[in-house]
Amino acid sequence: MSSSTAITNIATLVTNDPSLGDDSPLGLIQDAAVVIEGDRVTWTGESSKAPATDNRVDAGGRAVLPGFVDSHSHLLFAGDRTAEFNARMSGRPYSAGGIRTTVAATRAASDDDLERNLVRHLAEALRQGTTTFETKSGYGLTVEDEARALRIAAAHTDEVTYLGAHIVPPDLADDPAAYVALVTGEMLDACAPYARWIDVFCEKGAFDGDQARAVLTAGKARGLTPRVHANQLSYGPGVQLAVELDAASADHCTHLTDADVDALAHSRTVATLLPGAEFSTRAEWPDARRLLDAGVTVALSTDCNPGSSYTSSVPFCVALAVRDMGMTPDEAVWSATAGGAAALRRDDIGRLRPGARADLVVLDAPSHVHLAYRPGVPLVTQVWRGGRREF
Ligand SMILES: [Zn+2]
Repeated sequence: MSSSTAITNIATLVTNDPSLGDDSPLGLIQDAAVVIEGDRVTWTGESSKAPATDNRVDAGGRAVLPGFVDSHSHLLFAGDRTAEFNARMSGRPYSAGGIRTTVAATRAASDDDLERNLVRHLAEALRQGTTTFETKSGYGLTVEDEARALRIAAAHTDEVTYLGAHIVPPDLADDPAAYVALVTGEMLDACAPYARWIDVFCEKGAFDGDQARAVLTAGKARGLTPRVHANQLSYGPGVQLAVELDAASADHCTHLTDADVDALAHSRTVATLLPGAEFSTRAEWPDARRLLDAGVTVALSTDCNPGSSYTSSVPFCVALAVRDMGMTPDEAVWSATAGGAAALRRDDIGRLRPGARADLVVLDAPSHVHLAYRPGVPLVTQVWRGGRREF
């Protein structure tokens, strides 16, 4: 039998289970305790009613919430794009290659270099409270380079996404059909064993609706579940395609028609909003309020990547979503935890209730609202993952 531990003296506990708490979506409990046994939560409730346990940890009147679920990142890369960012933010023209710059650096990197870079970013995310993360290929764009990225990713997370259809690589720029054939053929064969998800960048300049449909349909036939980079830079077919193919998530959702919002609201496809991208490119914010008012399930994620959103901080995204996207602090915290879990079709994470994985964050603050109220402050003071205290 594994020993049991009670975390007690929690000022505010976010369970994300209304039946356990105050009937709000966050299922808040004041003066709470959480009991952990092995890698699972076995009990949550008021501290005074906590059952006897082998060990006790005093949270000192701090807030506890589920570990963040970062359901969208691109961490298999090498190199950086400081010069591009600096030029963009300095109002200077910059004509280097964007994603292609990262593709060249990633292809040139050794397996060890790629893995070290991944591990460094994961450690950085963990310090900021992320206990589950999804990550993608998409900077290799050859059969071998995509497969090795996914092989390395699969050693560190179950949530691995094949994004061979990120852009058409420069060497096939004149023949996108040949690249789509590769992505849906030989490259898919090499990548599918390591991946749970298939993704496509459905956007002008990347892949159009027909190409995206071919990519996602081929992935589905191989047992992968779709997620889509949709409607980020312009209106387009991505969201409708995601809904039509029962994708787990349509990601970005910055440019939506009423029909797009309506389609999402009547589907089980989650809208994953990635405000780090709009922040880092000075672009228009996605309208979270419009989606929430329509009844769409919304997730918040970092989109961590070296080009358009080089942040691994979910708390930063929570603050942006509250300040600039019309979300309440409660909604943003829900979307960064239970919302991320929904975008990964998981119900064992993103909640703190009996049976859930014991992934949780202790804030150096009495309430989860401080994540938005105190932007940029390193409030995450303790993280437990799978019942183990990481720090
Ligand atoms: Zn992305």
